[in-house]
Amino acid sequence: MLKIDTPKASSWKILVIGGAGYIGSHMVKMLGQLGCRVTTLDDLSSGHRDAVLCGEFIQGNFGDRAILNAVLSRGFDAVMHFASLIQVGESVQSPDKYYRNNVTYTLVLLDAMRQHGVKKFIFSSTAATFGEPQYSPIDEQHPQQPINPYGRTKLMVEQALGDYDRAYEFKSVCLRYFNAAGADPEGQLGERHDPETHLIPLVLQAASGRRRHISVFGRDYETPDGTCIRDYIHIQDLCSAHWLALKSLMNGADSQAYNLGNGNGFSVQGVIDTAEIVTGCKIPIVNGPRRAGDPASLVADSRLAQEKLGWKPQYAELATIIKDAWNWETRLASR
Ligand code: UDP
Repeated sequence: MLKIDTPKASSWKILVIGGAGYIGSHMVKMLGQLGCRVTTLDDLSSGHRDAVLCGEFIQGNFGDRAILNAVLSRGFDAVMHFASLIQVGESVQSPDKYYRNNVTYTLVLLDAMRQHGVKKFIFSSTAATFGEPQYSPIDEQHPQQPINPYGRTKLMVEQALGDYDRAYEFKSVCLRYFNAAGADPEGQLGERHDPETHLIPLVLQAASGRRRHISVFGRDYETPDGTCIRDYIHIQDLCSAHWLALKSLMNGADSQAYNLGNGNGFSVQGVIDTAEIVTGCKIPIVNGPRRAGDPASLVADSRLAQEKLGWKPQYAELATIIKDAWNWETRLASR
């Protein structure tokens, strides 16, 4: 658990949009442990009420102006926003949903925040804003040329936040996640997407027998074993970066974007091999075609977050990430 090293931290009032989802629920728990007063606003379209372990819970959509007015009139120091649609493939099929939820509703939220005098914002952005890597690891200077609607919606909000800062002194931190993974080390929370699309939970479902096999999407990439390489970051490390970002804004820092990963790339096959070691189970594999929109390799350069926020991943080993996710999966499998 993180130490509370800012005395004022215990009095911060934080609104967490999407606090019933995978990343949001871990964040709510951490903020509660750090002494913040937390309110979750979530419409439960994909989140789970029982994942909100502390603070106040309000069910509602963050694009609804009346709900936002009612919630924000209680007064908050900052807002953290986790309520996004995140599936690349779906964003290609149904871009309308993505632009509405990820852009339009977020702009409604930002304007409601301004109206209520809340001008500190932590935004969940993504490596997908970079598109095809031009070099690796990817730092904050890398050109942002997203190759799918999902990435474009996130980049649009990043750009809006830059303009809001210049015009309205609206301060934000954009955190560009690479591959969020793992679960609460205390075993209370984990990933529960429906449908699940992420590699590590799917691999572990294949290990526990909840799924017949894992499909490997492409073995013909230009990588050492032919499968895609990603940078997996433990959910707890992701949340600690949010906490440090929040502290920076509360202490008067300027708006900033940070890339968040461990700086180590692991192939899809490498993840499966590690999962077999961690779980002791044989994981059945079926080789499939490439998934549209998947770059061969995405690895983060997170030195800026380390230098400016003092962020230091505590759970950087892939085996640790998979061990905590496995602990969660065995709980779900025994339900
Ligand atoms: N992947 C796979 N089989 C699956 C799900 C994912 O081979 O059933 C691959 C996917 O092509 C990508 C990597 O695993 O190279 C991570 O995918 P994930 O959806 O977890 O995260 P993303 O990189 O899309 O954010």
